[in-house]
Amino acid sequence: MPLRSPRRRAADRFECEDEGVPSSQRVVVVGAGIIGLCSAEALVRRGAAVTVIDRGGATRDGASFGNAGLIVPSHVVPLAAPGVLGQGLRWMAQRDSPFFVQPRLDLELVRWGWRFMRSATPRHVELAGPVLRDLHLASRALHLEVAARLPGAPPVEERGVMILCASLAALRDEEVTAERARTLGLRAEVLDAAGVRARMPGLTLDVAGGVHYLDDAHASPRSLMVALQAYLVGAGVEFRWGRVVTGLERSAGRVSGVRLEGEVVTASTVVIAAGVASSALGSDVGARLPMQPGRGYSVTAVDPPERPAMPALLAEARVAVTPLAEGVRLGGTMEITHVDRPVDHARVRGITRSVERYLPAFRSDDLATLPVWTGARPVSPDGMPYLGRLERLDGVVVATGHGMMGFSLGPVTGAIVADLVLDGTSQVAGAASPLLRPERFAGRGRA
Ligand SMILES: Cc1cc2nc3c(=O)[nH]c(=O)nc-3n(C[C@H](O)[C@H](O)[C@H](O)COP(=O)(O)OP(=O)(O)OC[C@H]3O[C@@H](n4cnc5c(N)ncnc54)[C@H](O)[C@@H]3O)c2cc1C
Repeated sequence: MPLRSPRRRAADRFECEDEGVPSSQRVVVVGAGIIGLCSAEALVRRGAAVTVIDRGGATRDGASFGNAGLIVPSHVVPLAAPGVLGQGLRWMAQRDSPFFVQPRLDLELVRWGWRFMRSATPRHVELAGPVLRDLHLASRALHLEVAARLPGAPPVEERGVMILCASLAALRDEEVTAERARTLGLRAEVLDAAGVRARMPGLTLDVAGGVHYLDDAHASPRSLMVALQAYLVGAGVEFRWGRVVTGLERSAGRVSGVRLEGEVVTASTVVIAAGVASSALGSDVGARLPMQPGRGYSVTAVDPPERPAMPALLAEARVAVTPLAEGVRLGGTMEITHVDRPVDHARVRGITRSVERYLPAFRSDDLATLPVWTGARPVSPDGMPYLGRLERLDGVVVATGHGMMGFSLGPVTGAIVADLVLDGTSQVAGAASPLLRPERFAGRGRA
């Protein structure tokens, strides 16, 4: 049961016509993941009356809870980049690899793959870089503000992220990415093995070198979700738990609310922040938001043999190792598959084995006994979020498709959503980029 507070009463009357709340401020947010909660927080702080609807419960455990908690201005290269496809195909043959597409006869998957291929160009990477940098840096600043403002919010640790390379070949590849990041004004230092050891004291390492991204940071995603939810309940936001939004209601040529089973909740603006399920809600109003679930796994060693001084990303293995208050979290894998497919233990084993390869004190056999968490990233075919108003229909703001960056980009997404709902436009750097337009795939098969 969600907590109630005296201030909740204003939101309880949300559907009434005579509350004196300006119509532009009656907002329904679909989805209580990091994107939905950050949007609700930014909206309610600016005076909007907000209802958040989620098909899960108040103690749900989706993608926004067990992720690696990295805040990553260094992620200036979108998932759709040259070379990714070839690497992905090589990984497909490996049973415990970090990437897998479940082969199936699904037209949506075929279209998504086609668009991914069309997007993975040097030009796309060049255009996306500054947009991602601006959004991540703004979000990092907002993460710090949220941590300072919200009771119970976890601290944001500003120690950067270390990319660890087992081989010199990987280090050379990472040097190219580091150079790109530096050109965009980010701090990235390439280190040999001794240099990495000096920055990660007390950690047994078997690496050729690494890159330290000093602008990156991290925080506990679960603690942040809990703190955000508690704040929102206290601030009068109405939560409808265990309710599935089945479609968007229209009247007078605009969206006027959402449909639940047996009920309509009215709103002047609906924010679609339903993660992977956002595509279905988009199609209900004719908006094409192609997306595939990118399922990943994490395990958390509550009693780790060692504690890294900062998070590490294992370059060849694509695994994140994050020191959190609740333990050291090891997360990775991108499975393009059904969200409810059973856990693939071979791939979880791939994560734990690769951790042992870089950090030999972490024994794969010990890690393999830990409970496995799984979550599905909402992955767009060009690796960029869908963030903006629908152009063809008033009353809808879309905020989804953040893929591997939803935790990092949560606060800035929330701020942009609030701007779009309340002002119609956002001054946040990068917010107006055409690369974020929700309807960019509206043309038939066009990337
Ligand atoms: C292993 C792993 C590690 C990761 N590490 C990082 C990281 O270090 N940094 C980072 O930035 N990101 C990371 N991510 C990605 C990040 O977790 C996601 O991008 C983010 O959680 C997506 O948030 P969301 O709010 O869009 O979606 P979700 O968290 O999936 O929330 C969507 C919500 O909508 C609800 N919903 C869906 N459909 C309906 C409906 N019809 N009606 C009502 N409710 C509905 C769902 O129940 C859900 O609660 C990682 C992901 C994984 C899997």
